[in-house]
Amino acid sequence: MTAAACARFLSETHRVTLVESDAIGTIGVGEATIPQIALFNQALGIDEAAFLAATGGTYKLGIAFDGWGAPGERYIHAFGTIGRDAGLIAFHHYWLRGRALGLADDLWSYALNARAAYGGRMRPGVNPAQGNGPALPRAYHFDAGRYAAFLRSYAEARGVTRTEGRIEHVERDGATGDIAALRLEGDRSLTGSLFIDCSGLRGLLIGEAMGSGYHDWSRWLPCNRALAVPCENAGPPIPYTRAIARAAGWQWRIPLQHRIGNGIVYCDAHLADERAADILLAHLDGEAQADPRPIRFTTGRRERFWVGNCVAIGLSGGFLEPLESTSIHLIQSGISRLLKLLPGTGSHPALAAEFDRQTIYEYEAILDFLILHYHANRRPEPFWQEVATMAIPDKLAARVALFRARGEIVREHDELFTEPGWLQLMIGQGIMPEAWHPLADAITPGDLKDFMASLAGIVARDVAAMPAHADLLARLPKAA
Ligand SMILES: Cc1cc2nc3c(=O)[nH]c(=O)nc-3n(C[C@H](O)[C@H](O)[C@H](O)COP(=O)(O)OP(=O)(O)OC[C@H]3O[C@@H](n4cnc5c(N)ncnc54)[C@H](O)[C@@H]3O)c2cc1C
Repeated sequence: MTAAACARFLSETHRVTLVESDAIGTIGVGEATIPQIALFNQALGIDEAAFLAATGGTYKLGIAFDGWGAPGERYIHAFGTIGRDAGLIAFHHYWLRGRALGLADDLWSYALNARAAYGGRMRPGVNPAQGNGPALPRAYHFDAGRYAAFLRSYAEARGVTRTEGRIEHVERDGATGDIAALRLEGDRSLTGSLFIDCSGLRGLLIGEAMGSGYHDWSRWLPCNRALAVPCENAGPPIPYTRAIARAAGWQWRIPLQHRIGNGIVYCDAHLADERAADILLAHLDGEAQADPRPIRFTTGRRERFWVGNCVAIGLSGGFLEPLESTSIHLIQSGISRLLKLLPGTGSHPALAAEFDRQTIYEYEAILDFLILHYHANRRPEPFWQEVATMAIPDKLAARVALFRARGEIVREHDELFTEPGWLQLMIGQGIMPEAWHPLADAITPGDLKDFMASLAGIVARDVAAMPAHADLLARLPKAA
């Protein structure tokens, strides 16, 4: 992604070299995304249909969470809006009152993406002939290996030089401390002015060479291992990711055109590796296509993301578990931030400080959203009891208190998660406000009932008229 974006935007001014090692390979997971990926692809001029065809991709309308609040419960974090705001206040205040009066349905009856997801429907664009509504807010599921290959061709076609081989040593300038060169196996050396560390969890340049430390967040997100395994499809792919709570973690299901990506994320203090593998393999929709592949991680972030002439993008900068599919987004927003703050020659501590400030803000906002998935639970297992009773960051505690008191949600600056995202998370995990905004009392119960019924009807009719997700996929061009 980084090389492709540099190829797209820097080819007039910079020479870009990409170093990869086939012997090391990539982490090979990371197949569910959030809607911002469409912006990245558009910026690179990548056509959606061609992208889906090349990567075995499917549409994603949200993430369904099974058993997170309590066993047997289910909710979805659907992209897009819910209901319709009226007057000065958000829709959910009317919904809260309607629910208290027995006049409103389940929150997700008013969410187009949620209904379309569960109904296996999707609308990728406006079709004026059918008089339908706008395209649904969507992300994608895709085969990570195919996306990497697709972007590699893209980057090479635009002048990026790819160098195959293992980096064995990082040479630093004795005077400035900057990276002077990378020494590769076979006695090769690469010099450069800016080094972007995309080396994955190891953080070869930013951590090992430049000494940027690591803030460990496992006190809030204690899962530290994963097992990943693909399996065969057992029916048409669904247009949403599934995150299913298990005894000491959770399992993902990511539907692609040609297979399902599965994995279990767990905490080794509560679940042995063999038992995790048994749970994973016992809950596949189709035949496993490989043995489960183990991955270890520590949730957290680098102290600094930009040190001297080295910038961390991707897992070298930190790890947040894939509960809300945010890592690929963090890569893409990191790239866009770097391009905006791109240094010229010489040292740029002010640019580096600003890059760090924005990146840390983004990481911490996502961190709070993830913590709440764990913390707001009523599950009986020791792992879940532990996270339910842990101390949470003050800012998150204040956010929950504000919502509980009066259903208020405040989204600061350009935080990643929107008000409907927080709303679905909190209601879905059983945090119910004690009151609603007083202006929701301004309409009569009869009008409130009509308002709710008309919105639910619009959603239901709109979804019924949408094409089936499977039919849309069947109509995609075939990949070369
Ligand atoms: C269990 C799990 C599930 C995930 N699921 C999701 C998800 O659903 N959605 C999402 O957005 N993200 C997800 N992620 C995160 C996602 O996988 C990563 O953000 C993404 O794959 C990018 O990884 P990366 O490029 O930083 O590192 P890697 O994929 O590890 O790539 C590192 C690269 O550096 C090269 N390299 C490393 N060392 C050397 C060396 N010494 N010499 C030469 N080359 C070297 C490697 O060859 C490789 O090309 C998940 C992560 C995990 C662990």
